[in-house]
Amino acid sequence: MELLTIGAFAKASRLSPKALRLYDELELLRPARVDPDTGYRYYAVEQLPQARLVAWLRRLGMPLAEIRTVCALDAAGAAREIRAYWARVEAETAVRRDLAAFLVDQLTVESGDVESRRDHTTMLELRYAAHTDRGHVRPANQDTVYAGRRLLAVADGFGPAGASASGAAVEALRFLDEGEELAAGSVLNVLEDAVRGASEAVHDLAEGGEENGTTLTALLWTGSKLALVHIGDSRAYLLRDGELFRITHDHSVVQSLIDEGRLTPEEAESHPQRTLLLKALGGGMAPLPDLRLHEARAGDRYLLCSDGLTGVVPDERIKELLAGEDAVRTLIAEANAAGGPDNVSCVVADVVPPTHPPVSVE
Ligand code: MN
Repeated sequence: MELLTIGAFAKASRLSPKALRLYDELELLRPARVDPDTGYRYYAVEQLPQARLVAWLRRLGMPLAEIRTVCALDAAGAAREIRAYWARVEAETAVRRDLAAFLVDQLTVESGDVESRRDHTTMLELRYAAHTDRGHVRPANQDTVYAGRRLLAVADGFGPAGASASGAAVEALRFLDEGEELAAGSVLNVLEDAVRGASEAVHDLAEGGEENGTTLTALLWTGSKLALVHIGDSRAYLLRDGELFRITHDHSVVQSLIDEGRLTPEEAESHPQRTLLLKALGGGMAPLPDLRLHEARAGDRYLLCSDGLTGVVPDERIKELLAGEDAVRTLIAEANAAGGPDNVSCVVADVVPPTHPPVSVE
């Protein structure tokens, strides 16, 4: 083994001796030999690629513990870890980006600039329908749906008291449907308080316990914008100009494996852990929902649904049925025709000009 002094190794690796001493202290790159008398560090030529890798990973912002893991792997394993790390960074950044956009929006409304004032003069309304069905297999329905003039919500409860959990979460949001119109500028704070209330309500269930919890996906109407609150694997979709967009990201183990490139969407469909959640209200999980303010347009059609629909009906079919008449009924019928393995819930809402006929609820 050819040994280089720290100076020679620094030169060859284009890292400073100071950086090398730091990597040694952090146990990221130990010298091949330390002279017991002088304390001088010596490095093997074979350590050069690793030294460069450590430097690159530090530049990437990877935490030290993860760098240690990567360095212990072969090239293929290291590539996989770096891809997974970056997928997590992007997911976290996406959540922060949404929050930043939300805040910009809120402060723009507060600043009362011309464009936001115009928003308030072109008020639109929601026309909505909602239904939930037990399905063909489950002994009870633990989903809860709600649709009102301003609030649309789907919650999918789990655990022995799952039905109470989903019911309590939606009940805690219902006050948002009443009272005076919310300004888009205050909606972030109001929603966060409401979700905290929903989370506490789930925890306070008499039949409580860590195993009970619920998803919650809700849209709150502010007259021109929709505030979205989302936690779990229920979903919100938007049908606009004939295109279907999923506007929520599943907080599920399987989705995170897809994001990290460890699983393909096709493999996910039959994954044994596809119903495991990463986030929910209750269930001993972090009650941190995604919050977003969404610009609505006349002609938009929104769908909120539980995984009883998306687990068995592909997006392409959802798009076809959602575009048709009586979509709530036909979507639920489609899930049941596919075996109805889970409770299935749908809320469909159209954004319409205020001259439209009065609302109807199923
Ligand atoms: Mn479900």
